[in-house]
Amino acid sequence: MSAAEPIQTLPFRRPQDDQHRLAALHRYDVLKEPAGEDFRFLTELAARICGVPYAFITLVDAEQVWVKSYTGLAIDQLPRDQCYCSLAVLGENATEIPDLSADARTARMPLTAGEPHLRMYSSVALSTSDGYALGTLCVMDVKPGRLSAEQRGLLQGLARQAMALIELRAKEKALQASLHELEQLATTDELTGLHNRRSLLHRLKFEVARTRRFRTPLSAVMIDLDHFKRVNDEYGHAAGDLVLADIGRLLRENIRVIDLAGRYGGEELCILLPNTPPEGARKFAESLRAKIEAQVHHDGARSIQVTASFGIASFNHMDIDDADSLLRQADAALYRAKQNGRNRVEN
Ligand code: GH3
Ligand code: MG
Ligand code: MG
Repeated sequence: MSAAEPIQTLPFRRPQDDQHRLAALHRYDVLKEPAGEDFRFLTELAARICGVPYAFITLVDAEQVWVKSYTGLAIDQLPRDQCYCSLAVLGENATEIPDLSADARTARMPLTAGEPHLRMYSSVALSTSDGYALGTLCVMDVKPGRLSAEQRGLLQGLARQAMALIELRAKEKALQASLHELEQLATTDELTGLHNRRSLLHRLKFEVARTRRFRTPLSAVMIDLDHFKRVNDEYGHAAGDLVLADIGRLLRENIRVIDLAGRYGGEELCILLPNTPPEGARKFAESLRAKIEAQVHHDGARSIQVTASFGIASFNHMDIDDADSLLRQADAALYRAKQNGRNRVEN
């Protein structure tokens, strides 16, 4: 074939239940994961055992084949109709084509007709426990030929290892995701989306230790909503909850990533400001106070507005006390804010 002549491929068949097979493939969620050393070791071993230059672990997706690991030829992905593995997922567990140039299905494929002029293809399907072939472990050669029974047996063993690795990766991923979700649940206050009290106190200890170690300032801002009993009495407890949820969102939107906002108790909130001296904490509290005062809460057709009182306490590196005393000082400042007329910041 001359170089100018376009390489044509036959329209390839798809497995009858390709939809379900693809759903199984996507459940594993490993298509675009970086391959890793262990997958590479398997293809390397496959090439050595079979005495051929090329080995691949492939996953056959809807329109392309992802190469999870390669030996001999650096390919990340191929269109599905240009890859022999598309044939290998058609149903038979093992597919061998002794001369790709003599087989009507593969003779005109680019890797047969063009560089590197592959001739032998032998693969074992990577099958799920419910029988779907996700892809293959395959070996290829530029000479026509067949694997021996022993090589084929070993290749099947390696394919089982590759599939076990894919399953392990998928399980690890699912485990990580559910651990993350559990951690979120365990540390988050449901109503406000802020950290719960336990998580807040846990982080406070950590931040106090860090302040000691690195001699940086740490501030805590204690917030209590003003006359909140009246909000409940006038609009109902559900409306009170709605106000708390709005203020929770406001806090989350107005802190830096290194800060932590938590629900200390009922309508008492607390913000930890690492690396922040008293003046900085005061500025921050003052701006938050104004934002809470300006925020309008909508309970159906009714509008509700509330204010809050703020108490600030700070450590600097010369005067480091413990976590409890920081909160006590913030609480005392908050008490003064209430005494001095509410809707204000004291430290
Ligand atoms: P002030 O703080 O200004 O002195 O007056 P206050 O009316 O806010 O008094 P206090 O802080 O002592 O009372 C808090 C009230 O907040 C009591 C309680 O009914 C209400 N509250 C606490 N937690 C919740 C909650 O989760 N939802 C609702 N709706 N109300 C709550
Ligand atoms: Mg209150
Ligand atoms: Mg209170």
